[in-house]
Amino acid sequence: SNEDLRCIGCGSEIQTDDKNALGYTPSSALEKAKDTGEIYCQRCFRLRHYNEISPVSLTDDDFLALLNQIREANALIVYLVDIFDFNGSLIPGLHRFVGDNPVMLVGNKADLLPKSLKNSKLKDWIRQRSNEAGIRPIDVELVSAKTNESVDSLLENIDKYRKNRDVYVVGVTNVGKSTLINQIIRQNTGIKELITTSRFPGTTLDKISIDLEDGHKLIDTPGIIHQEQMAHYLNGKDLKIVEPQKQIKPKVYQLNPEQTLFFGGVARFDYVNGDKKHGFTVYVENDLFIHRTKLINADNFYEKHFGEMLTPPSEDSIKEFPELVRYEFKTDQKSDLVIEGLGWITVPSGVVVAGWAPKGVSVLLRRAMI
Ligand code: GDP
Repeated sequence: SNEDLRCIGCGSEIQTDDKNALGYTPSSALEKAKDTGEIYCQRCFRLRHYNEISPVSLTDDDFLALLNQIREANALIVYLVDIFDFNGSLIPGLHRFVGDNPVMLVGNKADLLPKSLKNSKLKDWIRQRSNEAGIRPIDVELVSAKTNESVDSLLENIDKYRKNRDVYVVGVTNVGKSTLINQIIRQNTGIKELITTSRFPGTTLDKISIDLEDGHKLIDTPGIIHQEQMAHYLNGKDLKIVEPQKQIKPKVYQLNPEQTLFFGGVARFDYVNGDKKHGFTVYVENDLFIHRTKLINADNFYEKHFGEMLTPPSEDSIKEFPELVRYEFKTDQKSDLVIEGLGWITVPSGVVVAGWAPKGVSVLLRRAMI
């Protein structure tokens, strides 16, 4: 048993089952280390040898302990969100946990959004949505951790706002926090020796901190898992087809009332009721198959073609795929019908629409982003 085997880097209990949890070590590495009795978990191993951090997620209890720690700290909070999945990026109750500490809100994955979208307009939109969630950021920034766009100016602004304090970087899983931290590490040459890992007292949690010039630290915290993301219901191959990889090219569909769009087999949109034909703009991964049909035939069509013409999910994984659940909305302004983790459809004011998503995935209506 590995029960009392601990990583000599971060102190986590060694385990071989869950790649994304603390202490994960491949069985092969474990075998080798049994002779010496010294072992690094995969995360610490990568950090030591490749100067690279890997994502890690937490249980709710550990996350709560972490948030409490943040409340007691005197720090700048850098709150990273995925702008393509803004609602899926919200941390419930974050505003209570940051205490008096200032929050800088950073929208990541800016590279995915269409060029036509003005940064200033998007920042306003983000600010309004975060105010609704109880968060009053001192600043809103847009970056792409992947392409390195605006990471320089982000670092400058962090330095400006932190005013001799530590910096905590927080975010749910999959927003790109590891990618961003790795960019930051890469930009600070010779920082290798400066990265340390240490543990939050009372939790199984290790944090990675990077020393800043004045003796303060930039602390990377593990992401909390957001169960409602589409990502939990698809295998890796199918996920690649659903998660946007490149800049989104919006597609406009002219729909009459009682028409339906299928997004592969993972989601569905109905224009249920309205006065006339309208344009509906779809923001999803460019290569995702979209099929238009009549609402009246849609149920039958899905039953017949699910996993085959309507894919993903691919045929071998349709059995485990949850059934689609319907959510109906009436709009009183131009709105986005959001299917969490997939994207959104911009709909005009004064219509009735329905979004369908796998059971467990959120569907919601918000004020239009674009
Ligand atoms: P973490 O769980 O928050 O640490 O997220 P990761 O850094 O592991 O990133 C999650 C996924 O988002 C990966 O597939 C990344 O390649 C992708 N990703 C991260 N940053 C960006 C970005 O700026 N743009 C795009 N398009 N994808 C990104």
